[in-house]
Amino acid sequence: MKSLFKKNTAIDQEYHEIKALKQSVLNAGMTEPTRDIALKEVDRLSKISPSSTEYTIGLNHIEYLASLPWGIRTDDKLDIEWAQKVLDTEHAGLHEVKERILEFLAVRILKLSGRHSILVIDDEETTCKNLKYTLNKEGYQVETLSSGEEALSLLEQRHFDIVITDLKMKQIDGLTILNHIKSNYPSTEVIIITGYATVDTAVDALTKGSYQFLAKPLKLETIRSTVKKALSQNRLALDNSTTILCFSGPPGTGKTSLGRAIAKSLNRKFIRISLAGIKDEADIRGHRRSYTGALPGRIIQEIRRCESQNPLIMLDEIDKLGNEFKGDPAAALLEVLDPEQNRSFIDHYLDVPFDLSDVMFIATANIISAIPAPLLDRFEVIHLSGYTHQEKRHIAFNHMIPKAVKESGLTKSPPVFSEQALDVIIKNHTREAGLRDLERKIAAVCRKISLKMVRNNDTSQPITILPDHISDYLGPKKYFSEVAQAKNRIGLSTGLAWTQTGGEIIFIEATAMEGRGQLILTGSLGEVMKESAQAALSYIRSHTDSLNLPDTRFDKKDIHIHVPAGAIQKDGPSAGITIAAALVSLFTRRVCRRDVALSGELTLSGRILPVGGIKEKILAASEAGISTLIFPEKNLGDIQVINDSILSQVNIITANDLSDIIDHVLL
Ligand code: ADP
Repeated sequence: MKSLFKKNTAIDQEYHEIKALKQSVLNAGMTEPTRDIALKEVDRLSKISPSSTEYTIGLNHIEYLASLPWGIRTDDKLDIEWAQKVLDTEHAGLHEVKERILEFLAVRILKLSGRHSILVIDDEETTCKNLKYTLNKEGYQVETLSSGEEALSLLEQRHFDIVITDLKMKQIDGLTILNHIKSNYPSTEVIIITGYATVDTAVDALTKGSYQFLAKPLKLETIRSTVKKALSQNRLALDNSTTILCFSGPPGTGKTSLGRAIAKSLNRKFIRISLAGIKDEADIRGHRRSYTGALPGRIIQEIRRCESQNPLIMLDEIDKLGNEFKGDPAAALLEVLDPEQNRSFIDHYLDVPFDLSDVMFIATANIISAIPAPLLDRFEVIHLSGYTHQEKRHIAFNHMIPKAVKESGLTKSPPVFSEQALDVIIKNHTREAGLRDLERKIAAVCRKISLKMVRNNDTSQPITILPDHISDYLGPKKYFSEVAQAKNRIGLSTGLAWTQTGGEIIFIEATAMEGRGQLILTGSLGEVMKESAQAALSYIRSHTDSLNLPDTRFDKKDIHIHVPAGAIQKDGPSAGITIAAALVSLFTRRVCRRDVALSGELTLSGRILPVGGIKEKILAASEAGISTLIFPEKNLGDIQVINDSILSQVNIITANDLSDIIDHVLL
């Protein structure tokens, strides 16, 4: 008796579980085909043993499906002035970047506010309600009215792309409305719905120009597809093919926080997905359920977490996407980003389509050239190149210090940073194009002040931070000006590199010894850089006369070129003229100036070709105390667009030919 009772309880439990599952599917707001699939799956589960693995997998799957935000959207705030305000309060400077973001938003606002409008006319309240709910979820603007008279007067005031009208209504009926629309607003499509469908009425309505004639009870899926078809026939379908913004630049230049500000200005949820190191396609598209421990991909997981079908998703560090493992994550991402395909994106775990067409994607990257070409093709790149000392100071005083003060609980008696103290932090304790380290250092100072105040039990006296105090807070000076400290030498030239973290100073050392004409290259140099060294040497060997080199027996010498900081991989052609300068200095025994930095590709005939990252290089040079910079003449355009406040700190020389620069570098 007892065991039978137990058995009954288990059956009851299972029954309730299946019932609750079914209800959750019905309440989830799924699209009709998906709901049908889920209900079938529930049905299947009800027939298998709850103790089987298959049951657990199926149960988890349906619960996951039902927990997704089907049709739940935040309302877009389409207000350009508000967007400008949000961008300005959260970010100092960046005028051009903000302007481009605003242009981008303006286009989006125009497109979104031009959403298709639909008028539903029916004297049955439930039909109006159901249609409004269904069509709203598709992104259309829907108005509902219960009589023909109201409809005619509204049509006089507003344009609708589609009118869905009941056929039988008191006084003014559907056919009258159809006639009125077809003679006055021919571009509006009319769909007639009726509970009293006969072949004659249908033929009548269609010959009078209605787009479709649908019998009640209405299948929502039929309504959806009919509306979609009507709009696409008129070439009115909502254009989702906007390009995707991609912020590129060194770390800490504000890429993520700009994305967050855009989400705030549009009133969308913000999601950041880091793509660094994602090697498996399944990370994007999910695992199939047959796989043990299967999970949906990151996109679906995050959409579920944020409970909205139209968030702003920031695909962070898209240049670090790997593809060495299984499948190709870049191809999966391409599908996610393609408006043709993402309307019915299929995650392997979900195994049913989920509409991503309302998601706004923004990508970030440190280096554009590392982005897979098909992805890059979809992006509109906005470059953020790093901040000058003055800009860092301004941002620190206006944004970072107030934020750090608040986070350290010092709002009641905020510490006062003197300008010189901040300069010491920027110069001696950070070396970066962006602001991450500076933010950390300011936060560290504030935390130490909090501790001091609590220890002394005195929170009333604000503390003033002077330059001399900085070493107490942050320890000894971490960065030194390489150039100011160093002596000029023979065979040692200064170059400028452009890396993921911004501009950098590099030194090239060249020396020669008795040997057999070998060129030795060390310092973790990449293939391209090795080739530039060979090209530089060949140019010099073939131009000994014009370069005034003393008679040198190259075949009896080994030449060694080394680039210090051997642990860091270096590559690219832009060190060509720097290597050449070190070699000419070595052979002519003329001393090389350390405060002159060079960047340019060298050809075998001595011509200097343009290079990238000019602004980052200039910023790094001025921070390191370089007085003169030598760049290719073809980079003049890049130099001219740089702010005067940056250019005023250094002397810039441009040249087309190696022979023109020798006297500027060698003493
Ligand atoms: P990234 O994504 O480029 O690595 P973040 O957006 O994380 O950089 O920025 C690092 C920090 O610097 C953030 O706290 C951000 O708010 C701040 N920041 C960056 N640029 C600016 C700016 N122009 N004005 C104010 N704060 C900024």
